[in-house]
Amino acid sequence: MTTPGKTASTPPAPVTEVSTHCPYCALQCGTRLHGDREVGVRARPADFPVNRGRLCQKGWTAPDVLTAPDRLVRPLVRGPDGRLEETSWDTALDLVAERLRALRARHGPDAVAVFGGGCLTNEKAYLLGKFARLALGTSQIDYNGRFCMSSAAAAGNAAFGVDRGLPFPVGDLRDARTVLLAGANVAETMPPLVHHLDRAELIVVDPRRTATARRATLHLQPVPGTDLALALGLLHIAVVDGLLDRDYVQRRTLGFEAAARRAMAWWPERVESVTGVPASAQREAVRMLGRAGSAYVLTGRGVEQHSQGTDTAAGFINLALALGLPGSGRGGYGCLTGQGNGQGGREHGQKADQLPGYRPLTDAAARAHVAGVWGVAPDDLPGPGRSAYELLDALGGDHGPRALLVFGSNPAVSAPHAAHVVERLASLDLLVVADFVPSETARMADVVLPVTQWAEEEGTLTNLEGRLLRRRALLPPPPQVRSDLLVLRDLAVRLGEPPSRYPSVPREVFEELRAASRGGKADYSGISYERLDTGECLHWPCPDTEERHPGTPRLFLERFAHPDGRARFTDVDQRGPAEKVSPAYPLHGTTGRVLAHYQSGAQTRRVAELSAAAPEPFIEVHPDTAARSGLADHGLARVTSARGSMTARVRLDPTMRPDTLFVPFHFPGDGRANLFTHPALDPRSGMPEFKVSAVRLDAVPEATP
Ligand code: SF4
Repeated sequence: MTTPGKTASTPPAPVTEVSTHCPYCALQCGTRLHGDREVGVRARPADFPVNRGRLCQKGWTAPDVLTAPDRLVRPLVRGPDGRLEETSWDTALDLVAERLRALRARHGPDAVAVFGGGCLTNEKAYLLGKFARLALGTSQIDYNGRFCMSSAAAAGNAAFGVDRGLPFPVGDLRDARTVLLAGANVAETMPPLVHHLDRAELIVVDPRRTATARRATLHLQPVPGTDLALALGLLHIAVVDGLLDRDYVQRRTLGFEAAARRAMAWWPERVESVTGVPASAQREAVRMLGRAGSAYVLTGRGVEQHSQGTDTAAGFINLALALGLPGSGRGGYGCLTGQGNGQGGREHGQKADQLPGYRPLTDAAARAHVAGVWGVAPDDLPGPGRSAYELLDALGGDHGPRALLVFGSNPAVSAPHAAHVVERLASLDLLVVADFVPSETARMADVVLPVTQWAEEEGTLTNLEGRLLRRRALLPPPPQVRSDLLVLRDLAVRLGEPPSRYPSVPREVFEELRAASRGGKADYSGISYERLDTGECLHWPCPDTEERHPGTPRLFLERFAHPDGRARFTDVDQRGPAEKVSPAYPLHGTTGRVLAHYQSGAQTRRVAELSAAAPEPFIEVHPDTAARSGLADHGLARVTSARGSMTARVRLDPTMRPDTLFVPFHFPGDGRANLFTHPALDPRSGMPEFKVSAVRLDAVPEATP
């Protein structure tokens, strides 16, 4: 049947308006996009539950990246003169496939590695994991989400038997009387979330007096790297001051005694001596949480990006359990996931140790299930590989990968000990980067593949609440730009795989993902594009049941995900950072985000309004600390650790701890914060110690004009 006035051959009218989601952080604000390449694309906020008609500056300006002047629009191959030159897709893909085949033949399948990103849709993350394990046969795949919330994920799995950023909808926070935010500067990283906290008394744990801390009723400002001591101290007070929910602890948890015994050694005055947080403020925090009626404990990267990040997240979970909050319906614990699809990205196979459905790669039944969906034998699946930093560190070494394929990541800026990572990338026989802008990593590549970005593609993402969202295309991609799915399919075929094994239409990939996730912890089998397109609100797990499963917005109300239904306390103790301050490096260097930028800044640095708002890196420091180095406001300075130095101008802030300096991590070149960060890894999560390094601050002589 045809629409009146149209014939069957009338081309479809171009889409001029779609409902989709912001491309950046894990809040995944709903947005309406309208316009086209001619008149320009504009975003306006949708009345979606997480953002309720609000967007931050990044969300409003996200369409500007679609027309970035240096947008990648053709495949590039490095020529004999060392410059990247335009070429055809066939030439680029033939070259990549030929060199991958040669490296695998010579050094084995693990000679080729894959590095993904938390920005990739579920479909891309799923197909990337399948491509790595089948087409390449490599165990060497991980993603930058490892740098995001892997510590909270490890702690959540141990405590609750499952890891989902928030096990409740964001809107539940509106009913909270008290919210403890540990290491999360939501006023800058997720501004629309703040409106859900309007009615709550906030307790903010952060070494800096951030925009979020300024809104708090109580700001606890610990020495960087001592958050676990603080969490232990808060548990101590909860027990001693009689705020423990004994009935809940007895009915719903295991392991309280050991955790409480450990906390008994952390009395408030001892905690004060280690953290610098006054004992009275510690008591006030526990009183606010314990008497609130409804309270939440939320952690972010500030307490998680440490070599003891998993234990620290566990310390805050212990506190929440002691107060009887998780799964109580009157509060809970959650982790504020960072990247847009940080949650879905790790559920569906681009993490070194996981198969789709949040299945462990070492579990025989999990391997058999996924191998069955993929039509291969379980033994054809490689085992777990290296975690993200270990993988980057091994590149080009005697036993490390010789080639790396990067999808949606910029490790030259975002990885710790960045100068070393750049050296490792440069030592590769082959570096291939699929991206839509020439990131610092893409500029180092031998082959650059131009791929679609958010408003040019369909797919799904999973936000910080475990809620499935549809990404929708407003625009066709530029003529020579391809979707990552098509790139993976075309490469796989060149490597000898049957094309039927690599669907390149997002909806078809999602259908396969549903089957692969069936029965797993992150079960998506009951979710379909059709259900999402009718506006159903679906949080995983959502199994494919006879009666349409409604999804699970609130986990743990009846039971936790361990076989016995109980949550676990974890016996953890403060160890402190891998690197202590010393006379040579007397300050704690910490890193983080600013309102105007996102992650390595590869996208937001290309938006004029955002660049104008935050044009360059800076070193935030107490005036007395600056003065000791002979520095005044805006003076040029160098921050040096045992690994290297970065340079920027100082910004004086009397609210900073005098023993600490802060540098945002969005900037490249000499202003890279990661030139000084420490690659010490959390033994359970593989999280690097981004948040604390021993550093010194020196003035840099200014050149005479
Ligand atoms: Fe929302 Fe995050 Fe996008 Fe800002 S960056 S508009 S908070 S999704």
